Amino acid sequence: MIPADVAEAEILGLVAPLHPERDREVVPLSQAMGRILTAPIPSPLDFPHWDNSAMDGYAVRFEDVQHATAADPATLTVIEEIPAGKPPQQTVEPGQAARILTGSMVPDGADTIVIQEETQRQGNHVRILAAPQPQAFVRHRASFHRMGEPLLAAGAVLQGPEIAVLAAAQCAQVPVYRRPRVALLSTGDELVTPDRPLQPGQIVDSNQYALAALVQKAGADAVPLGIVPDQPERLKAAITDAIAQADMVLSSGGVSVGDYDYVDQILTDLGATLHIRAVAVKPGKPLTVATISSFAAAPSSSAALYFGLPGNPVSALVSFWRFVEPALRRLSGRSQGWGPVFVPARSQQTLRAGGRRETYLWGQVHLTEAGFEFSLSGGSHSSGNLINLAGTNALGIVPMGTTQIDAGDSMRVMLPGF
Ligand code: AMP
Ligand code: MG
Repeated sequence: MIPADVAEAEILGLVAPLHPERDREVVPLSQAMGRILTAPIPSPLDFPHWDNSAMDGYAVRFEDVQHATAADPATLTVIEEIPAGKPPQQTVEPGQAARILTGSMVPDGADTIVIQEETQRQGNHVRILAAPQPQAFVRHRASFHRMGEPLLAAGAVLQGPEIAVLAAAQCAQVPVYRRPRVALLSTGDELVTPDRPLQPGQIVDSNQYALAALVQKAGADAVPLGIVPDQPERLKAAITDAIAQADMVLSSGGVSVGDYDYVDQILTDLGATLHIRAVAVKPGKPLTVATISSFAAAPSSSAALYFGLPGNPVSALVSFWRFVEPALRRLSGRSQGWGPVFVPARSQQTLRAGGRRETYLWGQVHLTEAGFEFSLSGGSHSSGNLINLAGTNALGIVPMGTTQIDAGDSMRVMLPGF
């Protein structure tokens, strides 16, 4: 049994991220939400594209207005109006000004904007009532960003702000990593699909649905391969098939030490390297992490990462959040932000744990003025109970060696999927 942070580091080290060329696809910007750039995007444009005005007012030559006051205004001839979207037609000569609106191009000859509030318009003339700072309210070409310099780095995740930047730079098609493919298998003779009448002793395969949802939320394609009975030959065939078509395989069940727990043995038979077999966490102690070469295989990767998750629904989800999701993020080409997010929070209840393993208690965090507060979900915290997992947005952590966290004490909380 290894500690959770050691397991996490080892798992991240096993991941072979998607390849920026072999695993690249080009998607329209409108479909790029959540995707990850394979290459830096150099800016095809300067930002701003030209000198423009930050305010409504008048474009002037500073030397003409530098001594203006309300008592002794500078009077200039207005030669044109420049609305946004129309290039200036004339050069501002000494003694002249151009009416300008926010975002409009600053005309040649002018170097300063006088805001409307400090002017008085009289027909063709404008009186400047106060001296501006030199170059006031001019946004200079390329002062935000220079053409040719990267706008976004390789490995950046495209969300709203990044998509805004790419749209502004007229990048209508963007090179992104394909979505990783994650095959899902549920093992167990007792399992049935949710649409089948439940016979005594049977258990509904909720893991496949839950894991598919989490995989998709993490930006990957889920490949659900169904239920496999606890028969070594069937399981061997199913695992072989899964490895051949995915970058990552998640099976659930069959990794404990029971009589029907065949996963580890089959992986060994298939030539996999088993890196982890148990982690000192509760729930989720049995966790098999293996690498195995994908014979025919996924388009690019030579080795698939295999996670044998515990069968217990709660354990499977906690293991996913704590160990699989970081690996998936690294696999997907992200340059950073793989690991789970931990924040300090104040516990609303007294929390208890065995102390021998790092314990994850499911519940909710709320942000208050005093910071995060963690409250434990009501109901049983048995790993066999999944009902009160609904609504979870946080896992409260009781460290190894600690058996109690008092109400009001500060603690560490993991924000799954954050
Ligand atoms: P196992 O790890 O195979 O011993 O399974 C541990 C417990 O989790 C057993 O009670 C199983 O019935 C249950 N279980 C296993 N797989 C699933 C699944 N896919 N969905 C829901 N429960 C499961
Ligand atoms: Mg089983």
